[in-house]
Amino acid sequence: MQKILVTGACGQIGSDLLIELRHKYGGNNVIATDVKRSPGPKVLKSGPFEFLDVNNRKSVEAVVEKYEIDIIYHLAAILSAAGEKNPDMCWETNVCGLFNILDIAKRYNLKQVFWPSSIAVFGPQTPKYNTPQETILCPQTMYGVTKVSGEYLCDYYFRRYGVDVRGVRYPGIISSETLPGGGITDYAVAIFYEAIKQKRYTCFLKEDTILPMMYMPDCIRATMKLMEADLSRLKHRSSFNLAAMSFSAGELVAEIKKHIPEFTCEYKPDFRQEIADSWPGSIDDSAAREEWGWKSKYNLSMMVEDMLGKIKGKLLTGK
Ligand code: NAD
Repeated sequence: MQKILVTGACGQIGSDLLIELRHKYGGNNVIATDVKRSPGPKVLKSGPFEFLDVNNRKSVEAVVEKYEIDIIYHLAAILSAAGEKNPDMCWETNVCGLFNILDIAKRYNLKQVFWPSSIAVFGPQTPKYNTPQETILCPQTMYGVTKVSGEYLCDYYFRRYGVDVRGVRYPGIISSETLPGGGITDYAVAIFYEAIKQKRYTCFLKEDTILPMMYMPDCIRATMKLMEADLSRLKHRSSFNLAAMSFSAGELVAEIKKHIPEFTCEYKPDFRQEIADSWPGSIDDSAAREEWGWKSKYNLSMMVEDMLGKIKGKLLTGK
């Protein structure tokens, strides 16, 4: 059985992906790592955990050697809004951390690496709707700059050294398991907690700001499907456009109100509005559909119904 390392395993996507990978490949074959020193019980009880800073190359090598790793899902990163507050750390973690992983993959002849890019690679000059796979990349944030750099770095390591690194440009990810870690689309998770608990929410984006989004089950399915895809069919590598749904904050509020009619939302845009305005409203993911058979399942109403049920359950049980 192949051995898998997950970096950033305590984050929003890592927490869900880890559980699916452990379910599929066996708990002891999937090593969770993060700079968080106290991961939750689901991470600790389902398999091994190691403290690991991806900027520390020697520590990454030590973990790769200790567990005889074959595949890395590299999710450790500093996200968009957090990156604007600390651009140095964002560059260091997102670019130097990725460089360490790719170079270790080359040196240890690893089988595969997964690394996610983001819709933050796009910018104001990019076509805003149905954004094509091949288009203008003009990020406005340090986070977006690191993702464009990462895409080129991954392509270089494949072309020059044959490292089988694959990735997608995730849209905003919505999930019930773990809170998001400082992105522009975080409002689309926080709103559910406040709708249930307070029946009101103050949104940091304008009511009519439309962004591409995806529900976590689709995100995990896409990630695992791309890694299982036949390499010979892939013309792109680390930068597949990926889409599921697009909606504005106002449309999300209207959908939640179908379940919680007394829910109200105020809009007080902050610094994150300018970043959101530079991102696309919808994405053309035909390359992912053609090359590895991607197709999303969840639309806005299915996602809202599922999220409300899951978060109500979490709040009731305290888990
Ligand atoms: P997150 O912020 O929730 O989690 C990132 C994890 O990385 C955290 O647990 C953090 O402790 C860890 N980390 C930070 N610095 C580290 C370091 N130096 N060494 C090791 N671990 C470190 O992020 P996420 O939402 O789970 O995102 C995972 C990946 O997906 C990132 O590459 C992110 O850019 C990308 N992505 C996420 C979204 C989204 O909406 N969540 C959208 C587009 C792309």
